Amino acid sequence: LRRGASGAAGTPRSASGAAAAQLQRRLESELQDIRGAGTWKSERVIASRQGPHLRLAGGGAGILNFCANNYLGLSSHPEVIRAAVEALEKFGAGLSSVRFICGTQSIHKDLEEKIARFHQREDAILYASCFDANAGIFEALLTPEDAVLSDELNHASIIDGIRLCKANKYRYKHMDMQDLEAKLQEAQKHRLRLVATDGAFSMDGDIAPLKEICQLAQKYDALVFIDECHATGFLGPNGRGTDELLGVMDKVTIINSTLGKALGGAAGGYTTGPKPLIDLLRQRSRPYLFSNSLPPAVVGCASKALDLLMESNAIAQSMAAKTQRFRSKMTAAGFTISGKDHPICPVMLGDARLAAVMADDMLSRGIYVIGFSYPVVPKGKARIRVQISAVHSDEDIDRCVEAFTEVGRKHGALP
Ligand code: PLP
Repeated sequence: LRRGASGAAGTPRSASGAAAAQLQRRLESELQDIRGAGTWKSERVIASRQGPHLRLAGGGAGILNFCANNYLGLSSHPEVIRAAVEALEKFGAGLSSVRFICGTQSIHKDLEEKIARFHQREDAILYASCFDANAGIFEALLTPEDAVLSDELNHASIIDGIRLCKANKYRYKHMDMQDLEAKLQEAQKHRLRLVATDGAFSMDGDIAPLKEICQLAQKYDALVFIDECHATGFLGPNGRGTDELLGVMDKVTIINSTLGKALGGAAGGYTTGPKPLIDLLRQRSRPYLFSNSLPPAVVGCASKALDLLMESNAIAQSMAAKTQRFRSKMTAAGFTISGKDHPICPVMLGDARLAAVMADDMLSRGIYVIGFSYPVVPKGKARIRVQISAVHSDEDIDRCVEAFTEVGRKHGALP
């Protein structure tokens, strides 16, 4: 690398030489391909707190937000913010250390204990993200003698975590119990079998058939792992998640989830389950061993969010009616909404450009939604994913449905 031409402070530096020039040409061509395919993902800049009403940088105020994972509206809850400030003042900005060297404070231990209690499990371990929790579990737990059976539509972080481990890998068709059973039969020859599934699938808003999965796991002597990022805090009578919703809390062995969505929305992830497993992860899990501790303010947010949820199930329950309102009104308007009873409400459109153009037009009407297309979802299955939050009012939801109806008619998605 050489200094930029002017050498002034802040001037970007660029690499020189044939290899750098070749790389630049390749990157530009790849970026052009993405633009050409209509799948370019641009980032809108928010100039306010996360919440149902946003201000965008550059002026747009009073924007109705329907695309955050802020399911319970806790990201800007005053008590959550106060808890973060208190933790920041008392415990500092951060630990400058991994957990096992000098990065464990009393608040980390308290939060782990609280997470385990919330999920009614023996112990829990914190990570910087659920992506890390998923990256760290399979390699630590499974050897070449074992097998992992994974739903084909599992989150990218589960797929990557499984790639890192040396177990025998089986991929079953999405939520297809016949296929899972066939794969479990094939996998009988291995020492240990682990079925891995998202509890709720974030692109389709559908919920894994956990009861059936657990029955098959019992029949074929397998363990069950669920990723509860889109379930923790609000699915089930007390917001414990998919296992509570489907009555299998005592059948699921391992739960990974995030602190970066319903539980305050700051950041962080965890694994909760049997104590020896958590002990092993503290010894072997690479994203835990080789990455910084969660910052105290982040720990404070999540800890307060869990307190609020354990005090009362009112917050967890408050969003079911809102979800139902949006889903039924959109269906009546003529849209196809994928999934069932989940606040992730994908408005299925098929065409990638249609999804992108409609999402832009929705924003021009003050509604912030995002189009998803290949490679995030399969080709030909582009959609606009709407996410309902407990803090949306009925009027917010009705305004969103009205805008969708107008925009859908304008662009030919509705007759
Ligand atoms: N698993 C699922 C199903 C997710 O949706 C996400 C986030 O998008 C993650 C894992 C990663 O969570 P985090 O943001 O905590 O890394």
